[in-house]
Amino acid sequence: MASSEFDLIERHFCHLTPARNDVILAIGDDCALVTPRASQQVAISTDIMVAGRHFPHDTSPFAIGVKALATNLSDLAAMGAEPAWFTLGLSLPEANEAFLTAFAQGLASVAIPHNIALIGGDTVRGPLMVSITVHGFVPVGQAIRRQGARMGDSIYVSGTLGDAGAGLQLVKGELVVDNDLAAAALVGRLNQPIPRLAIGRSLRGIANAAIDISDGLLADLGHILNASGVGAVVDPALLPLSADLITAVGRERGVQLALSSGDDYELCFTLPPVRESRLSALGRFRIPLTRIGTVVAEPGIHLQQESGIAQVVAPQGFDHFLDNDEMND
Ligand SMILES: [Mg+2]
Repeated sequence: MASSEFDLIERHFCHLTPARNDVILAIGDDCALVTPRASQQVAISTDIMVAGRHFPHDTSPFAIGVKALATNLSDLAAMGAEPAWFTLGLSLPEANEAFLTAFAQGLASVAIPHNIALIGGDTVRGPLMVSITVHGFVPVGQAIRRQGARMGDSIYVSGTLGDAGAGLQLVKGELVVDNDLAAAALVGRLNQPIPRLAIGRSLRGIANAAIDISDGLLADLGHILNASGVGAVVDPALLPLSADLITAVGRERGVQLALSSGDDYELCFTLPPVRESRLSALGRFRIPLTRIGTVVAEPGIHLQQESGIAQVVAPQGFDHFLDNDEMND
């Protein structure tokens, strides 16, 4: 980009995020310099979001900024890590001042409460695309991985599921909801996900395995099960649905969205029943934690039916449940 455009970008991003004393050098040199912490490992994750694929073209720049950072932080949450630094790759059709101002405000609105510092990045002219790499700290050996689920573990999810999926249908015009407040809440879940960082950190030493739900419960729980070499029985009647979702689509359709739609960025985790009492300490976060099933030896996800017979959803059957995967794959 021309130097004036570069100045524009420096101006928007340089003093955007919290100052941290472990950042020696941030934006402005060939590399950033940061100080690692003794007896901690660094958890690193990158996500790319492309306009029209991961968010609708008409998403507000503020919401793009929020979502780009929040979804990355959700990956740190899933590992039980504490956010520290991030880098930003931004491809823009033009150096549009209004876009950059709102986008930067969206980023800052997530970075500031989570004390994560922007330490570098790059910008190019091209189709609208945002790539963020987050770095976080986790005590040595305490990261919660996907591979730790054991037979007999209880399966839990945080918050409510299916809201963002309904929000996506609303913004695509595939769903019409009379209740404006419910509709706004569902679209809010799509555009401004809340990474469950405090819950993730508190699950260290409690959860055997965890993942954040970006692609839908069946798909993401499937990742835990595949990595752990186990299966699961899930009771759809136990899935936590918000009042807004039930108002918008009813319980039956809500359950289908909760199983298969993505973008909720809640946590799914497993733990042995003997540790379930330790979850009560997490009540201080005021986010419901709901037991939805059990880890079993037999591979695949078995959905409990009202008749008592379990319907088997093999991993390759996940696609069967996805009816609007265009934005989530
Ligand atoms: Mg993830």
